[in-house]
Amino acid sequence: MAATNRTDRNDEMMSALKLQRDAFIAARPEPLALRRDRIKRAMALLTDHSDALCKAMSADFGNRSAHQSMITDIEGTKNFGKYCLDNMDAWSKGDKRKLQFPLSLLRAKGEVRYEPKGVVGILSPWNFPVNLSFGPLMQVFAAGNRAMIKPSEFTEATSELTDQLVKQYFAPEECSVFTGSPEVAAAFSSLPFDHMVFTGSTETGKKVMEAAAKNLVPVTLELGGKSPVILGRSADFDKAGERIALGKMMNAGQICLAPDYMMVPEDKEMDAIGSVQSAVHSMYPTLLENDDYASLVSDRHHDRLQSMIADARDKGADVIEVNPGGEDFSASNARKMPLTILRNVTDDMQAMQEEIFGPVLPVKTYRDVNEAIDYVNENDNPLGLYYFGTDKGEQEHVLSRTISGGVTVNDVIFHVSMDDMPFGGVGSSGMGAYHGVEGFREFSHARAVYTQTKVDVAKVAGMKPPYGKKDKAKAA
Ligand code: NAD
Repeated sequence: MAATNRTDRNDEMMSALKLQRDAFIAARPEPLALRRDRIKRAMALLTDHSDALCKAMSADFGNRSAHQSMITDIEGTKNFGKYCLDNMDAWSKGDKRKLQFPLSLLRAKGEVRYEPKGVVGILSPWNFPVNLSFGPLMQVFAAGNRAMIKPSEFTEATSELTDQLVKQYFAPEECSVFTGSPEVAAAFSSLPFDHMVFTGSTETGKKVMEAAAKNLVPVTLELGGKSPVILGRSADFDKAGERIALGKMMNAGQICLAPDYMMVPEDKEMDAIGSVQSAVHSMYPTLLENDDYASLVSDRHHDRLQSMIADARDKGADVIEVNPGGEDFSASNARKMPLTILRNVTDDMQAMQEEIFGPVLPVKTYRDVNEAIDYVNENDNPLGLYYFGTDKGEQEHVLSRTISGGVTVNDVIFHVSMDDMPFGGVGSSGMGAYHGVEGFREFSHARAVYTQTKVDVAKVAGMKPPYGKKDKAKAA
């Protein structure tokens, strides 16, 4: 029975892909006005249904502040749509390219056209379910493509609502949504798309790339990892603590770019920890009944984080719970947990081996900043890297000796919200990027168009056989 269902879903998704690709080919070349209209409809969908979407996200999480959802999922995504509308004329202009001398003089021409690829598959995670489906969608549309979306099974209410709303605002040959289990996601990632954007974990990213490889589907992989914070000796520790606390507590740490762990000068460790603690106290006087503080998305995720803390404690970490209201979390089933700071961490602890993705903050110390740099380089390339300090020389030293998807200096996470800057990982934190002109190019095919001159270039260049005829004639 399950097999039949799976086959039905496969057939349904294959038919949707065929419908979109046929429509895409038949409609070419589509005017930019049509792309614009699709982006505007996606923006209108978000405006008209922002309340319902925020409620659905809160229901999926157990609790999630509507205020936060408006910023991270609704307004941020609409702003990105507006940014695409403002820039797509310039992005979609072809480039004239230089030709080898003297071809331009002979009136040959070289240009690159940025053309739509066709149908793009978008696989999104649960942590920002609206932003990470509709964000890529804006730029997929800007580049002239059609889209099929598979949202996460963990945010069922939001995914179902997304499906209904997309049906209201788009024809199935423009955009369609497929909800369902990881099996549906696996089948989705096996479809012969023209491009696929996956946002999710590094482990699933590997499976997606393997499935895509079978059809030679190019992929953009927006993955995760352990994004370090390096606090330089010259940092303003109060300000840094506040910014790190905000980045770690927002969405209860369930952000791909959340500061994963901190590295601080040995003699400043307690200053750094103290400033994070006091920032949590002032932003979140209580947590359990506080709507500003999100729940963890599932019991499994909650249990994983609890066992991560227990593992660190068993292996000798000093565990500091930041519980401003002195609340009893064990008596609640709200799936909320306080920020837990871990000192004296070692590499064999789970907290130092996997992406945390929750309110747990390990702290490592260093004597020389090169130790922090070495530590980053010994581990997988992170998605984000954060440096705090006013010492420009040290800042450059850290940046030029490490590798990461992106960087925010003197804060955390912010680089992702800069629409004009590419957002993506490197190595195990991902490949490819969207946002900025880079995203438009990612979802476009750079097609080289060379127009030959009237002059017989092949002959002049000696490419026409019989080869060496002239030389032979000379020798005779
Ligand atoms: P996940 O990898 O478990 O799931 C992501 C998506 O993959 C879901 O839609 C799921 O249905 C689908 N999926 C599951 N199994 C699959 C399979 N076998 N084949 C194809 N698709 C499959 O990730 P998650 O738990 O939803 O999200 C958390 C992870 O996402 C974290 O690692 C986080 O860092 C990362 N993330 C990255 C970014 C970014 O932009 N780089 C943003 C948010 C989250």
